[in-house]
Amino acid sequence: MPHMNTLELRGGAGRIPVLGMGTWHMGEDRGEHAAELAALRAGIDMGYRLIDTAEMYAEGGAEQLVGEAVAQAVRSGSVEREDLFIVSKAYPHNAGRQGLPAACACSLERLGLDYLDLYLLHWRGEHPLKETVDGMRALVAAGRIRRWGVSNLDVDDMEELVAACGGEAQLDCAVNQVYFSVSERGPEFSLLPWQQARAMPLMAYSPVDQGAVMHDAGLAKIAAGLGVSAAQLALAWVLSRQGTVAIPKAVRQAHLKQNLEAAQLVLSPQVLEEIDRLHPPPGRKRPLAMI
Ligand code: NAP
Repeated sequence: MPHMNTLELRGGAGRIPVLGMGTWHMGEDRGEHAAELAALRAGIDMGYRLIDTAEMYAEGGAEQLVGEAVAQAVRSGSVEREDLFIVSKAYPHNAGRQGLPAACACSLERLGLDYLDLYLLHWRGEHPLKETVDGMRALVAAGRIRRWGVSNLDVDDMEELVAACGGEAQLDCAVNQVYFSVSERGPEFSLLPWQQARAMPLMAYSPVDQGAVMHDAGLAKIAAGLGVSAAQLALAWVLSRQGTVAIPKAVRQAHLKQNLEAAQLVLSPQVLEEIDRLHPPPGRKRPLAMI
């Protein structure tokens, strides 16, 4: 089993695996249940430890599926709960002082867990960030979540979040999860450096552009020269940036295996230059892309 690299989190908040399994669109179709459950189980057996889900996905259906997979894996002895890193997210409308504990309790119930390893604000909504911060900190204090973070926040929102936390020294947001891939390099302009400066990992969602990288002929050509697929190269590229975590979603077990292998790839400076020519780094600030 390949060794899973990890990144250190701010403020002694432990470590996060650099690769995880996404679950968006899982749990939506009963006909896919067996295949999706088998994929998550197989992923854990292969060595995946981080699973990313959200109350939004299949309106709780994805959390239920993750709960089932985790329960089976723990029961079978293939992993211990403490070795997993389970991430879920609250809808913005649930991210107020009262809504957050209720939403978290529902997520935990669906997941069949006592605690989440990481709980994120899915995107910014109507509740002031200060309320979300207070709610998150209360959940940490109550032992319902180990740490918290945000998703889809750009630098200006992150600056507001710092203020909501009470200043840089009190900044206890563990991660920011955003769309980041070889074709969506916008965060490299200012958000990624901002997070790197604070040792706050950037969790890259849709890191293989929802499968679209497989139609990128230029990338496929470079990948062929390395004996890997375009998706593997795209994933290795995301992980080549300092301080990134990637959470590709894959139901096909061959994809899960390939993604695990891709996380071990080290890209040469020449390959990185070729990718820069194909997908240049951003030359100016662009609004944060969202999927
Ligand atoms: P993605 O991971 O970029 O792409 C998933 C698609 O790529 C699936 O169709 C999958 O196929 C295919 N794929 C995966 N590995 C592959 C490989 N090695 N070769 C070829 N195809 C491959 O897209 P995503 O699901 O949008 O993003 C990943 C996760 O990020 C989500 O599942 C979710 O957990 C999270 N997310 C968060 C937000 C947010 O707002 N915070 C937004 C979007 C996503 P199969 O399934 O058929 O194997």
